[in-house]
Amino acid sequence: MGGTAVMDEASPTDHADPGLTQSDSLRTLNRVFGYDSFRGDQEAVIEHVVAGGDAVVLMPTGAGKSLCYQIPSLVRPGTGIVISPLIALMQDQVDALRALGVKAGFINSTQDYDEQRLVEAEFVAGELDLLYLAPERLRLDSALDLLSRGKISLFAIDEAHCVAQWGHDFRPDYLALSVLGERWPDVPRIALTATATRATHQEITKNLGMDGARHFEASFDRPNIQYRIVSKDDPKKQLLRFLKDEHPGDAGIVYCLSRNSVEKTAEFLNRNGIPAVPYHAGLDAQTRALHQSRFLREEGLTVVATIAFGMGIDKPDVRFVAHLDLPKSVEGYYQETGRAGRDGLPSTAWMAYGLQDVVQQRKMIQSGEGDLTFQRRAAAHLDAMLGLCETVQCRRAQLLAYFGQRQETPACGNCDSCLTPPESWDGTVAAQKVLSTVVRLQRERGQKFGTGQIVDILLGRKTAKVIQFDHDQLSVFGIGQELSEAEWRGVVRQLLAQRLLAVEGEYGTLVLTEDSGAVLARQREVHLRKEPKKAPGARSSGSKGERKSKAAVDLPEELLPLFETLRSWRAAQAKEQGVPAYVVFPDATLREIALTGPSTIAELGGISGVGEKKLATYGEAVLEVLAEWSGSGAGQGDGAPEDE
Ligand code: ADP
Ligand code: ZN
Repeated sequence: MGGTAVMDEASPTDHADPGLTQSDSLRTLNRVFGYDSFRGDQEAVIEHVVAGGDAVVLMPTGAGKSLCYQIPSLVRPGTGIVISPLIALMQDQVDALRALGVKAGFINSTQDYDEQRLVEAEFVAGELDLLYLAPERLRLDSALDLLSRGKISLFAIDEAHCVAQWGHDFRPDYLALSVLGERWPDVPRIALTATATRATHQEITKNLGMDGARHFEASFDRPNIQYRIVSKDDPKKQLLRFLKDEHPGDAGIVYCLSRNSVEKTAEFLNRNGIPAVPYHAGLDAQTRALHQSRFLREEGLTVVATIAFGMGIDKPDVRFVAHLDLPKSVEGYYQETGRAGRDGLPSTAWMAYGLQDVVQQRKMIQSGEGDLTFQRRAAAHLDAMLGLCETVQCRRAQLLAYFGQRQETPACGNCDSCLTPPESWDGTVAAQKVLSTVVRLQRERGQKFGTGQIVDILLGRKTAKVIQFDHDQLSVFGIGQELSEAEWRGVVRQLLAQRLLAVEGEYGTLVLTEDSGAVLARQREVHLRKEPKKAPGARSSGSKGERKSKAAVDLPEELLPLFETLRSWRAAQAKEQGVPAYVVFPDATLREIALTGPSTIAELGGISGVGEKKLATYGEAVLEVLAEWSGSGAGQGDGAPEDE
């Protein structure tokens, strides 16, 4: 197979003029999607693909990846084939496109035979702009045969990081996608992902056979997300306070490691007045589907989930993502937190992290099934994640650096490190005390213990267990009175994070590492993070009175009731049609409607997110809502009030 470079010029005759193509794309953006202009790299990507080129696109969540293949699919002759891993979401994706007047369909195992045949027939007859398929389907000869019976405008490979084994979300089915380039060498391919380190990026290119592709890499920064990592003491209570103080009435996702803690946390939130549903692989498919669809359709619902939840969920108004347990990698963390704030409005990524997380994950890696390569990779991922947790620098800077990117200023101003800078302190002596306690126990007594006992010894506590083992006779007994228990646990946690201490065996007992010796020999200093006394508060100042959800807070006070009125109108529409609210209009569009108060169809059509089809479907109804609102005297009709 040749490279793909030559096809740039030579694709479909009717779109040969690049000037014409460009305006076709822009016109489609205006008419179908109701947006004025492209963002960032969108235009360059679209132009390139429309002209028949291959593209590998790295863009953060919310940057607008979908348009990068949807518009070329509409502009180029034929059907755009979209490979997307989550069949549970295809229905919603297709509904959202149909609401825009785009002829979209999907084929997957949730459909019966007749439904599938119908879509197949539409595809073969050239009646579809877009067709969504799951990667596993392309392993079937029948699916490949079907594809060769229709005209294909492009292949879009969404969530392309799934083809990379280094990454956090490898799916073997993706490896089979290299067949596309071999069988359809003239059809442009576009691979897209929101998470990729250098290594993952290279693997995507190699495994999909896209060496000739042009690469587009946007900044991964998500400035509207506030990153915060707090020290864990009573995680459920900390979560509750965070939600009550900062996100009342908001939709969000809470991630937990185990099914059990998912269930317990969801119960706990419900009991405390936060509507929440659980989601994990142990629930039956029907319950999972129900909870997912409630999350998408209802406003202000929290999903408590394992990482089984979330990929492809493009609900734009997720206002917070909370982690009660440590993610296994920075890629995972970034992907999960990235589900917040796709609409560009302020959102929070909040995590509670503590000693137990480090112990547990180090243990899991050591006792895990995988071979040595797998273990090494897992350990490297965890080290990077721990580095992010323990940094005294800007979290965002560290996060971006992980993806090989730099931010313009060293401090972002919207992460906990920037908002309430933690101190760094010289923990060398403290580290030596911990390490020498571990050494004494092992050398003098041949014993290994977990953190609890080590801390009790340092603090000089005569607990039953200390007495039982005569640990009050050790020379290190009581040498650590200067720090509190919580502080000592913090020291141990950071030593584990820095691999100056390791855990071992089923009980997670503490043992030295190769590097511990240098600290004990005073050849190496240890710098530790000291938690700020006061946790960084909410970003908003208005702490008195009833707090509104973040989306609403962004509007002037007097427009909030109108915004809420529009939201309830939207909720009724969505319910009637059985689609998520954002399929009707996203919050950002409702905000702009509330702000600008259009009084004619033409004015409404000028608002971002109001395309031709939506204007036709909802235009009159929205104007009615607005007229009623200003007529009721609720609105301060600035400008000329229309008298009806
Ligand atoms: P991604 O797939 O990269 O996470 P989406 O394609 O879901 O992002 O886009 C995120 C949001 O931004 C969507 O609501 C989308 O309609 C909107 N959007 C995308 N491109 C533009 C644009 N050029 N102008 C205005 N809004 C846009
Ligand atoms: Zn910062």
